[in-house]
Amino acid sequence: MLLEVSGLDVSYGRTRAVKGADLTVGQGEIVAVLGANGAGKTSLLRALQGAVKPAGGRIVFDGVDLTAQSSAARVRSGVMLVPEGRQIFVSMTVHENLLMGAYLRRDGAVESDIDAIYDRFPNLAQRRDMKASVLSGGEQQMLAIGRAMLGRPRLVMLDEPSLGLSPLFVERLFDLLGELNREGIAILLVEQNTTMALELAARAYVLDLGAVVLEGTSAELMRDEALTEAYLGGG
Ligand code: ATP
Repeated sequence: MLLEVSGLDVSYGRTRAVKGADLTVGQGEIVAVLGANGAGKTSLLRALQGAVKPAGGRIVFDGVDLTAQSSAARVRSGVMLVPEGRQIFVSMTVHENLLMGAYLRRDGAVESDIDAIYDRFPNLAQRRDMKASVLSGGEQQMLAIGRAMLGRPRLVMLDEPSLGLSPLFVERLFDLLGELNREGIAILLVEQNTTMALELAARAYVLDLGAVVLEGTSAELMRDEALTEAYLGGG
């Protein structure tokens, strides 16, 4: 397994946002995390990225225990988060935003990797010296993913990347995630768009009130209508 999470607890004071979650992602696998608002999906990803310290449990990535490691150490190991709401730097240019994704790299291939991102996203190339605030929501999501790619990740975690995008951009986004996966990148995808997430992912976990209440292959979960309706509102 590439990522092995066991017994993960995340608490904010008395609120237990994640309760004893067990989850794995295999090498090159796409795994979805589903659940209603407040189910603990963002808290799970923030704990995996190192933004919040878990109250308990273990996070092992490629055989290395990352539980006590800093976010920077996790990035260096190849774990990148594309956060909810994208969190790009709107007062910086498109190019500067991309460079931020490579801030821990010391190799000489950053510029050629940025060129590869521009080849993939011509809209970003055309706007490379403009402030990121001029981009549409869909372009900002592409920028956030491009920025994560510059960390040369082995696992990309995305927090509701389709939120607020037009249907056309949602299609493009899911195509892009499939392409990145074919290039060997494992993906942990938090999504409200249940149907598309299950179509893309091999397996999925359903969180409810912080606990994993369902898990299985996407095919199994899609067939399990009563359960998916109970936890996902029919998605
Ligand atoms: P959403 O889809 O709304 O982002 P989610 O499934 O990602 O929901 P979380 O954001 O992880 O869920 O929230 C899980 C629980 O933790 C909720 O009860 C939420 O109110 C609480 N929570 C989240 N962040 C904080 C925080 N910084 N301080 C206190 N409570 C928090």
